[in-house]
Amino acid sequence: MATAPTLDDYRKQAGGLSYRNQAFIAGRYVPAASGKTFDCVSPIDGKVLTAVAACEAEDVDRAVAAARAAFEKGAWANAAPARRKQVLRRFAELILKHKDELALLETLDMGKPIRYSASVDIPGAANAIAWYAEAIDKLYDEIAPTDPSALALITREPVGVVAAVVPWNFPLLMASWKLGPALAAGNSVILKPAEQSPLTALRVAELGLEAGLPEGVFNVLPGFGETAGQALGRHMGVDCVAFTGSTEVGKYFLKYAAESNMKTVSLECGGKSPNIVLADAPDLDAAAKAAAFGIFFNQGEVCNAASRLLVDASIKDAFLEKVMAVGARLQPGNPLDPKTHMGAMVDRAQTARVLDYIDQGRADGAELRMGGKQALADSGGCYIEPTVFDKVDNRMRIAQEEIFGPVLSTIAFKAPEEALRIANDTIYGLAAAVWTRDISTAHRMARALRAGVVWVNTYDAGEITTPFGGYKQSGFGRDRSLHAIDKYTQLKTTWINLAR
Ligand code: NAD
Repeated sequence: MATAPTLDDYRKQAGGLSYRNQAFIAGRYVPAASGKTFDCVSPIDGKVLTAVAACEAEDVDRAVAAARAAFEKGAWANAAPARRKQVLRRFAELILKHKDELALLETLDMGKPIRYSASVDIPGAANAIAWYAEAIDKLYDEIAPTDPSALALITREPVGVVAAVVPWNFPLLMASWKLGPALAAGNSVILKPAEQSPLTALRVAELGLEAGLPEGVFNVLPGFGETAGQALGRHMGVDCVAFTGSTEVGKYFLKYAAESNMKTVSLECGGKSPNIVLADAPDLDAAAKAAAFGIFFNQGEVCNAASRLLVDASIKDAFLEKVMAVGARLQPGNPLDPKTHMGAMVDRAQTARVLDYIDQGRADGAELRMGGKQALADSGGCYIEPTVFDKVDNRMRIAQEEIFGPVLSTIAFKAPEEALRIANDTIYGLAAAVWTRDISTAHRMARALRAGVVWVNTYDAGEITTPFGGYKQSGFGRDRSLHAIDKYTQLKTTWINLAR
């Protein structure tokens, strides 16, 4: 029986890796037109992995031209859905075939533990692409119920050139939630990975080609937000931007669209999700475990992180002890060690930002109960201890702003109505949870919570079959499920006069 890989095995494999570091345009790897590159630094130890093409407006022009030409040629856009299914299923299979390499790339690039990149990110990405592949030849168009003197067909058509702009926290997984439906629907796609995490996107580009995607249908442009990202957002030849990232940058994309060609924009943005624990929660140990994983999983770099813990005052102290006991077992470690649950923060800038918020929490009068410091300083990498604040007031910055790190803000409440008021007192509305054994309380609160996802007696549950996305400034448009296909298609009515 094969033994599970160890830290040494992963280190050895990492030493033997080669990196795809050029843009992928029209089916070929090419340098940036300017020849510029940027260093891709591993947050595990601060070492440079490779120098990656720094794409700018000229590269965006080239990629859009390739994507448009492929779209107009129609080899993909007009292929039978069953053909697109076949190619995308093969694409998903190739991602799985290279799962170990891709998981390693993801971990080296952005610091998440290998146990999760290998079990969550890469298989999840393959599953998303396979799921949309399977869906696309099962969707029927419509005939409208018109007067019998006419036949009105309502058909879905691909929008054309889609720019997918994604963040660094789940690099390939977030990309796959866009690639799956956009490609299945027949679009050409330009994927712009975050500058902190370009490696898996660049590697899967050639796997798409190998699977049978025609040249120009899937392009990858590494580069910075202000240059490559902005040029995509403002391009007259991009028909749709599918964005996942911060609320601040999401707003830029609305502006870019308004100032260019009115391209459609869908936004999956930030969150400050409330996790509400009522005194009658059915299993406080399970709730505490979920509360800890809800904020410390992926180093807290999760859009729907359970960053605000709202607990009934009567159980708050005992409950927080349980949460901290779980948190204490999640100390950061080398992400390449399969035993590690909490890895490295993505880079120095994000580490500094999170530490600033911890200082801010203290300065505002919250009580630091656990963590609060950098860890593993000798590694040369970016690590922060799991951190818990108690006695947080919802008006404090650590309760209102998205920290995107392993920092929990605990707020006590006296009645469910107060919990709801606090929970909804935020600009965000991505996710929320309620823990109670009372089914009517659960339904009542779920209905009152202004969030795209509400969990009852669990946290962070979901499948590719369920829509994911936010209310308010967490964005609009939904990833996952068949609803995601709406973003990448437009409806055409063809009215046929049957009267003689
Ligand atoms: P970010 O907004 O800084 O960057 C996201 C992407 O936008 C990157 O590719 C970046 O290069 C690009 N970008 C940055 N500035 C730009 C600009 N001026 N013009 C055009 N493009 C620009 O976000 P991030 O730091 O990479 O990721 C963290 C954020 O992502 C958090 O706010 C998190 O909540 C959010 N997120 C949301 C979801 C969701 O599904 N709602 C999922 C994951 C992450």
